[in-house]
Amino acid sequence: RGIAATIKHVAVKSCIPSDRLDDMRLSTTMLEGKVALITGAASGIGEETVRLFAENGAFVVAADIEYELGHQVAASIGSDRVSYHHCDVRDEKQVEETINYTLEKYGSLDILFSNAGILGSLSGILDLDLNQFDNTLATNVRGVAATVKHAARAMVAKSIRGSIICTASVAACVGGTGPSGYTTSKHALLGLVRSACSELGAYGIRVNCVSPFGVATPLACGPFNLEPHQVEENSSDKANLKGVVLKAKHIAEAALFLASDESLYISGHNLVVDGGFTVVNHSFSAL
Ligand code: NAD
Repeated sequence: RGIAATIKHVAVKSCIPSDRLDDMRLSTTMLEGKVALITGAASGIGEETVRLFAENGAFVVAADIEYELGHQVAASIGSDRVSYHHCDVRDEKQVEETINYTLEKYGSLDILFSNAGILGSLSGILDLDLNQFDNTLATNVRGVAATVKHAARAMVAKSIRGSIICTASVAACVGGTGPSGYTTSKHALLGLVRSACSELGAYGIRVNCVSPFGVATPLACGPFNLEPHQVEENSSDKANLKGVVLKAKHIAEAALFLASDESLYISGHNLVVDGGFTVVNHSFSAL
């Protein structure tokens, strides 16, 4: 009752100007001197996270299959702090080699942001193409498992109390928000995160994931031939939280929190960045 009363009165009175909210952001060097490997780093959420981690003092290996885009991202940051490395997460050897590259280049591996993913085939269960289904799982589950395995081995070998973050999705929480293969893969990813969390806690390694709602990236625009503003309008229309347009930056900020010591005792958590979408059902018509 006490909490309900405070929410009621704060919600009525609350009006923090946006410039003050900017002042209230966390310190800008949350990852000073840390070494991070980010997969799917050439575009969208991964690219935004490369920029934010570098701004926060991290050395970053930006790994992706997109050679030119990946190099452009690293070059646009313009310091030796960020370097592109080719890595197809479906190939375990490339994953292992990328971890070794990170250790040789920057001397450590404190953070893995295993973010590479594809939407895959848009077909539903009635028309499921199992070869495409395999490819979606090979990227979104097997690929992530390979990165977690080799990053964790490196952390354990060097006694690094690291942070591993994977990108899941609202499609890891509810059906109907993505194609069949994609939804299956993201649900499986939650299991991978929880399992790795249970095993790696003994070494002081934290394992979490972020689960975005719809963000206007090539993954969300391309398959539907939509412009970014159309994806954003669609997401805003279906969103529970109004007045904010979800951007890749918001997901990067959630990853930054989980990567940093600000979340030192958080492990096995699915940080859902969806403005309440997956926990609200507006069937009660009085509100
Ligand atoms: P994006 O297409 O902009 O970026 C994905 C990146 O992953 C690309 O640069 C791509 O080249 C790379 N990639 C694909 N396959 C790869 C492979 N085998 N090995 C290495 N890199 C590979 O899309 P995004 O939206 O930024 O997606 C990032 C993550 O966010 C994905 O895991 C996706 O499932 C998840 N996600 C996205 C949304 C959204 O609405 N955009 C919502 C929920 C979850």
